[in-house]
Amino acid sequence: MSTTVSRKASSNGSVGSSPGAAAGGPRGTGQHNTARMSAISAVTGWRPISPPLNFAETPAQELFCKNVFNREAMKSRLPKSVYKTLIQTIESGQKLDPSIADVVAVAMKDWAIEKGATHYAHVFFPLTGATAEKHDSFLSPDGNGGAVAEFTGKQLIQGEPDGSSFPTGGIRSTFEARGYTIWDVTSPAYILENCNGTTLCIPTAFVSWTGEALDKKTPVLRSMQALNKQAQRILKLFGHVDGAFVASTAGPEQEYFLIDRNFYFSRPDLFTTGRTLFGAKPPKGQEFEDHYFGAIPERVLAFMLEAERDMYKLGIPVKTRHNEVAPGQFEIAPTFESANLATDHQHLTMITLRRVAEKYGMACLTHEKPFSGVNGSGKHVNWSLGSNSQGNLLDPGDTPHLNAQFLVFCAAVVRAVYKHQGLLRAVVASAGNDHRLGANEAPPAIISIFLGDQLTDVFQQIKAGGANSSLAKGMLTVGVDVLPPLPMDAGDRNRTSPFAFTGNRFEFRAVGANQSIAGPLVAMNTIVCESLDYCATKLESLAPKSTESLHAGVQSLLAEIIAECEPIVFNGDGYSAEWHKEAARRGLLNLTTTVDALAELKSPKVHAVFTKYGVLSDRELDSRLDIYLEQYCKTVRVEAMQTLEMARTLIFPAVIRYQNELASACANLKLLGYEFDTETLDQVTELVKCLQSSISALAKTLVYHGADGLQAEAAHFCEEVLPAMLMVRKYADELEGWVADDLWPLPTYQEMLFIK
Ligand code: ADP
Ligand code: MG
Repeated sequence: MSTTVSRKASSNGSVGSSPGAAAGGPRGTGQHNTARMSAISAVTGWRPISPPLNFAETPAQELFCKNVFNREAMKSRLPKSVYKTLIQTIESGQKLDPSIADVVAVAMKDWAIEKGATHYAHVFFPLTGATAEKHDSFLSPDGNGGAVAEFTGKQLIQGEPDGSSFPTGGIRSTFEARGYTIWDVTSPAYILENCNGTTLCIPTAFVSWTGEALDKKTPVLRSMQALNKQAQRILKLFGHVDGAFVASTAGPEQEYFLIDRNFYFSRPDLFTTGRTLFGAKPPKGQEFEDHYFGAIPERVLAFMLEAERDMYKLGIPVKTRHNEVAPGQFEIAPTFESANLATDHQHLTMITLRRVAEKYGMACLTHEKPFSGVNGSGKHVNWSLGSNSQGNLLDPGDTPHLNAQFLVFCAAVVRAVYKHQGLLRAVVASAGNDHRLGANEAPPAIISIFLGDQLTDVFQQIKAGGANSSLAKGMLTVGVDVLPPLPMDAGDRNRTSPFAFTGNRFEFRAVGANQSIAGPLVAMNTIVCESLDYCATKLESLAPKSTESLHAGVQSLLAEIIAECEPIVFNGDGYSAEWHKEAARRGLLNLTTTVDALAELKSPKVHAVFTKYGVLSDRELDSRLDIYLEQYCKTVRVEAMQTLEMARTLIFPAVIRYQNELASACANLKLLGYEFDTETLDQVTELVKCLQSSISALAKTLVYHGADGLQAEAAHFCEEVLPAMLMVRKYADELEGWVADDLWPLPTYQEMLFIK
């Protein structure tokens, strides 16, 4: 048994050199933790597989957009008139002229073939939250035994994947399974590289043959169009009539974990469900907060550099990277872009992170809560709106109290969030995010807005009759002469708020790491659109003839909005128990589970706002609710089955072996006339009993067939199955603290989080 290593020894990384371990350990020697041990030795023995990247040879700016059919590529390859028409559609949302498609298709194909493409793919985003693509070759037989490369306007504009297996929530049945993908000109085509070739990818919307949205992109585009229309009305009131498209903008910060792939594949729970269903809390977790912003480990940095290089080529403007709070947790954020593009780029970012992590021998986990007891992962979505001519419409300037236009846009957001708290909670609901929201590390499930001192003060003045001042920013003095003075921000940051004003944008922090940002963006665009409509209608009805009368109208409108919606504003500690009480007193919603939150999608208010602005029809909304409920049930069911399997076939056998060892030691000692203290045996025996009965209890919850409808079924999974899973975990995790280390089959939290 040369490979027997204690768990303590393994954590200092000195195990890897043990030769027996690398080969998988001897079989039949009573060694039961082989998978674990070989994982550890593989981790500690990891060496880079490819030569290092050289950014001095090819600077990052040369790589940027190298694989994107962007404006530059279009300008140099398209006739002037075609280029101009396309840009008009992209920039001002004008109707696409389909007659240009043939010309664009040929230029695109030539460009792609020069870059080594053999195939093209319509890429779309079905409601599973994943990215789907169907590849077609450019080659067509020429009828004379040869082949020609072809790509027509029709092939560019429209595809017909056999999408009958994508969820539709009853919109299509399989006998009428036609679904179309439709070219989205506003998101540029790009080349996806593979070591054996490249593919031209064309971002598309995915709709049923009746034109109903079956995807995440269509409503994003519809909501942007609707938002622009209402924003223009407000801008017009303030004298801005250039009509430049007002786009919502998004900058998503992605958190993720990296763990070695050897550990990943030794944990069936991780690779099937994305999270650990078992695992005792390690002696050291994140209490020292020594990982946050710490030096990035070498292998991780190598991975980041390659992932970023790939993303630059795709035109994804990646900007920041750092270690996050939990051990093994990291974050990446791009510079913000138009919401549609940011959504496509976010999907690509997740795909790239996963793919490149693999190359570096790691698994990238984007689950919201892969490890209990340490922080989970979110995806903060920074959101604003702006146009080429007006810039960012949520920029308050130095004196927000004088910036009436900003105040209208800002108050519209506050009103929207107040009126549609339930919807905002619903769009971040998922089985994974339930483990995060409301825990003491992520925003609570109660939706509220942080405005900061400066804006809160301005709003209070408006409510009291008129704003005359803005809290000044001041200078930051540190008391060290060699440090330069800095202008101070008008308010501190608040990390506990689910929806925070952060200087010139709002940051929606409740979004889960694994979610598409499309849902949250669609919701924000649509509800703010409704509020802008409300404000515009009020202000227009006053028919303001002068700046003074407009400002008087704005003052009374804002005072009314603030008085009605101020319960949603909360600048304090969102984690505190007092806030929960206070929020209840204010009548704010506190929807703690996905099941409760999704039910909000049924409310007439939600249907009204989506249908009024043509973002989602009643049928489309109903279908989404069904799909998300179904997804929830499936997720929890798979987790429960996985819990059962691991408890029965991995953990229980290990525990029984240990119990047996203790029992025979006890019996042997007794035979020899020694006293044997049975404390450990008693403990283990008690826990084994509990483990066994918790396993049967969980199994029973899964044979339940009584649910009447999806909502009830989801409630069953939430209220019966999840707690039963937790009980199994409770006993298994306790046993992990007793059972002999060489018998324990699963990589531990300590190993997964700290052995890099
Ligand atoms: P922090 O972690 O301090 O919140 P980051 O720099 O990690 O800040 O992320 C801020 C994100 O907000 C970036 O993606 C940034 O591009 C984005 N952002 C900045 N301005 C806007 C805006 N006007 N609209 C949308 N997103 C924005
Ligand atoms: Mg942030």
